[in-house]
Amino acid sequence: MFVMELPQSVRTILSVLRDNGHRGVLVGGCVRDACLGYAPHDFDIATDATPPQMQQAFRDFRVLETGLRHGTLTVLIGHEPFEVTTFRIDGDYPDHRHPENVTFTTRLEDDLARRDFTVNAMAYDGATLIDPFGGQADIQRRVLRCVGDPATRFTEDGLRILRALRFAAVLGFSVEPQTAEAVRRQRELLSKIAVERLYAELKKLLAGKNAFAVLRSFADVLRVFLPELSDSGIQAVEKTGEDWLLRLALLLCSADAEAALQNLRAEKKTVRAVLQLHTTELTDARHLLASLPSEQAFRRVDFAAARGEISAEAADRLRAELRQLADEKPCLSLRELAVNGRDLEALGLCGREIGQALALLLEEVLSGRLRNDRKTLLGEIERRQRQRSPI
Ligand code: ATP
Ligand code: MG
Repeated sequence: MFVMELPQSVRTILSVLRDNGHRGVLVGGCVRDACLGYAPHDFDIATDATPPQMQQAFRDFRVLETGLRHGTLTVLIGHEPFEVTTFRIDGDYPDHRHPENVTFTTRLEDDLARRDFTVNAMAYDGATLIDPFGGQADIQRRVLRCVGDPATRFTEDGLRILRALRFAAVLGFSVEPQTAEAVRRQRELLSKIAVERLYAELKKLLAGKNAFAVLRSFADVLRVFLPELSDSGIQAVEKTGEDWLLRLALLLCSADAEAALQNLRAEKKTVRAVLQLHTTELTDARHLLASLPSEQAFRRVDFAAARGEISAEAADRLRAELRQLADEKPCLSLRELAVNGRDLEALGLCGREIGQALALLLEEVLSGRLRNDRKTLLGEIERRQRQRSPI
């Protein structure tokens, strides 16, 4: 028998609904994750109560009513928000993404039928699993399958095509043959979807444990919105862990990555990080840490290893050196140097000399010849001034 452990806050919401004569169930990702044996990361609740009935039932609670028109009341327990949503039937989807209208319903089965995949279309009422589409059996078989006819479901909402690949990658599931066939046949529907939504799903896909298998099998589907996707990039992903940023950089290796990422409306910091991986020279661990934040330095090594630029042994050696340096907390960049421009000005340096002196000190620290403390560094400059050595 399926039993799901529920936090007290969720139990409270379910019992408030029950005490007010309504049905309340958990739906979607949390039920799926619990069936898989994973701890759910959030709990979505669905109910037969209409929006006004929900407002009435939760009148003694702090609530947010911003989603109420679409049937969602956010209930705050402590500071934690929980979305409680009226059972819905979606109307037609004229734009292949958004239903024209939603109708509230009192039938849980109708609400489950509008959901995308069998594993996402289960509900739990605190005692019993409600599973009209065989989600639990698909979990056991590790199969991702559309609820109903895949072609119809993808025509309604093209984003589901990418969601299918995302869940297959994250859960490590295979895509059921009819669902897979419709994914391939209807892939062009992805071109009608807002890129922000595609990009958000792509990142989740790339963080999935099965991303390589999905990329290999469905590259042409992804190329509808990411034509830059290269076969050699996909091959390189095979040798990586679950790091979406590293994988994105590998996939865009042989393309104008900046343009590709801008088309996807990627965040500025992602664009910067990908370009850093593409352009930073791989020398030794100290220089790597001098030019990159430590997380990126490690990623740069992974990037080189995945592309076969360096051997697995060389990568291991570099990672060990990076770890050791990180433990020593050495000075890594000009900003972290124990002296700054003003200190050098006080010693009588001016103009370009200051920048040159700082660069020189940084190099001395990085190479391990000088310790990064103020006294040592100022002493070094004074020594050079006395000896008239170049600065
Ligand atoms: P995650 O762990 O990533 O949050 P999730 O299953 O909760 O996974 P959400 O995108 O948060 O995914 O959606 C919540 C639920 O809403 C899904 O489980 C599914 O039942 C339904 N759903 C979401 N998006 C769609 C969609 N485009 N079409 C049909 N049903 C959807
Ligand atoms: Mg969710």
